[in-house]
Amino acid sequence: MQPLALGLIIPAADPIASLERVQSLGFPTCQLSCAGGRFLTNHTDDELRAAMARTAVEVTTLFLGFDGESYADIPTVERTVGLIPEAQRAARVQIALAMSDRAKAFGFPVLAAHIGFVPDDEDDPTFKAVVAAVQRICDRCNENGQQFALETGQEPALVLHDFIHIVNRENLGVNFDPANMILYGTGDPIEALHVVGHHVIGAHAKDGNWPTEPGTLGTEMPLGEGAVGMPRFIAKLKEVGYTGALTIEREIEGEAQTKDILRGKALLEGLI
Ligand code: MG
Repeated sequence: MQPLALGLIIPAADPIASLERVQSLGFPTCQLSCAGGRFLTNHTDDELRAAMARTAVEVTTLFLGFDGESYADIPTVERTVGLIPEAQRAARVQIALAMSDRAKAFGFPVLAAHIGFVPDDEDDPTFKAVVAAVQRICDRCNENGQQFALETGQEPALVLHDFIHIVNRENLGVNFDPANMILYGTGDPIEALHVVGHHVIGAHAKDGNWPTEPGTLGTEMPLGEGAVGMPRFIAKLKEVGYTGALTIEREIEGEAQTKDILRGKALLEGLI
């Protein structure tokens, strides 16, 4: 893979159709986004392997989401997302372990997820339980020859940095999403790369504007039209030595999504 090879994050329920779409849009890589463990539900493993060979699209990451998550506003995210909700934690860890095994069958090198809002108090029982859950996922990923990436945004960079050090697993890293830092109001993403840059193993190219009221999320924007500043983001990724894929994420659907993706791709091609 070329340094900063462009990619697209795309649903994994029918990964064959997704790989064909990624290829038709001209991307060499993709992340497959897998909700609730629903991966490859209508095809065989061999059919997916054939599609990977035929399209030559490199799957860089299997990105996990969980049923019951909602990103409606910040209190809802705190209550529902990732490994933070106690009632769902054990079942979600089991999904992550199972998906690590599925990823191994296709040679996907990275598993990623939003783990939710990590508390900044290390004595909080939730903090300790989430550390143990992430250690378990990392250890299974390690057995399967994979890294595990935490999606950024829901906590400030320093909290994320300390969490990674406390989990203390060599194969734990960051999927850096600069827009999320802005959407959640957790800090300037370029400054965050000073703090966690050496942990970055995946990156989303997404843009957004800051929240305007407490408790609400900011607004996702087409690449280049939000507050990230794509030129400084790409320059900073290069400065911290990141050489992985740069994966466009646009959280709308239909023809407008395709238009924004292609415009974003053209913008990034001029910057990398
Ligand atoms: Mg993202």
